Amino acid sequence: MKNLPVDSILARRRFLAAGVGAALTPAALARHPGVRSQEPAKERPTMIGSANALAGMKNVWESFRAGGDPLDAVIEVVKVPEANADDLSVGLGGLPDESGHVTLDAACMHGPTHNSGAVGCLQNIMHASEVARLVMERTDHCLLVGQGAYRFARDHGHPHAELLTDRARRIWTAWRERMSESDDRLAPAKKDQKSGMLFDIHGEQVTLEEIIGDKRPTGTIHCSALSTTGEYSSATTTSGLAYKVPGRVGDSPIVGAGLYCDQEAGAAGATGRGESAILSNSSFAMVELMRQGASPEEAGLEVLRRVTRQAQRAAAWQPGMVDGQGRPSFGLHLYAMGLDGATAGVSLKGGGRYAVADLEKGPRHEELVALHP
Ligand code: ASP
Repeated sequence: MKNLPVDSILARRRFLAAGVGAALTPAALARHPGVRSQEPAKERPTMIGSANALAGMKNVWESFRAGGDPLDAVIEVVKVPEANADDLSVGLGGLPDESGHVTLDAACMHGPTHNSGAVGCLQNIMHASEVARLVMERTDHCLLVGQGAYRFARDHGHPHAELLTDRARRIWTAWRERMSESDDRLAPAKKDQKSGMLFDIHGEQVTLEEIIGDKRPTGTIHCSALSTTGEYSSATTTSGLAYKVPGRVGDSPIVGAGLYCDQEAGAAGATGRGESAILSNSSFAMVELMRQGASPEEAGLEVLRRVTRQAQRAAAWQPGMVDGQGRPSFGLHLYAMGLDGATAGVSLKGGGRYAVADLEKGPRHEELVALHP
């Protein structure tokens, strides 16, 4: 728990004594129509996350459904791609910023204590999600960035690691060589380019040319969990947008954007274009919509409608934001879980899957519901 100054403790006592912060009674609920009174479902362990969460979900599912802690579970899930050199969007092997540095963003949130921790622009530490948890549990802060985050991680025993793999370096070099025809870098002659160099991006085989062109990889891993004791936790971790401007921090470590959970309403997360998740506050918005009675799918689709309108307005000064039919030209995937353990994964455009695990069917992939099929 973060240490609260005496003033805050006294203020909180006054708040509770006034009955404002007390549990919502039927009379109080009658004064606030639309606000839900339910407790999160117990004995319905459930997990939801991005498609790349499936491997980790399979690892932890048996112990989690037997009563495991939700924060332990989500961190274990997201650590799998953090250590996987083949995942180009998270931790080790993640694609670097435009200057060749791999910088990581991560956050976790704990429903029962409504507490969070995060790191932004963290270099040379593999498990950014564990450092985010340390920020939550061992400081009175919510977010550490850059050198401070690195020193904090080292102080807590995290080893220094080289995260730029040979594969990521080759992709980044190829991207730089093709960035401009007016600089001094030249792409290798066609005959010297390795033909058929294929990369697995979320299960799809793409060529090097596609990666540095129109299939610039996005990724990130999000996972939220509802435990057998009715407790939520969430985690999101990423190497962020490939070739980003150095210093850029995306949505993943921003509470309310890349993740959010609230014991009174549900949990949510986002992957894809971070700026849009930040501008729509997408995870917070989904949880708030579920608090007002929306299902996880309705909440996710409503946020995507807002994102679409916001992109249309942004297109006035950034024309590439929407296509010819006014649909966003970028990708955004949203994941939501309600108090009853119901889940949904939605996306701006058709195609794509998310990972989910529940008592009925165990860990598996499901199709995302697309706003613009
Ligand atoms: N949301 C991440 C970011 O903007 C990227 C992604 O999910 O692909 O940093």
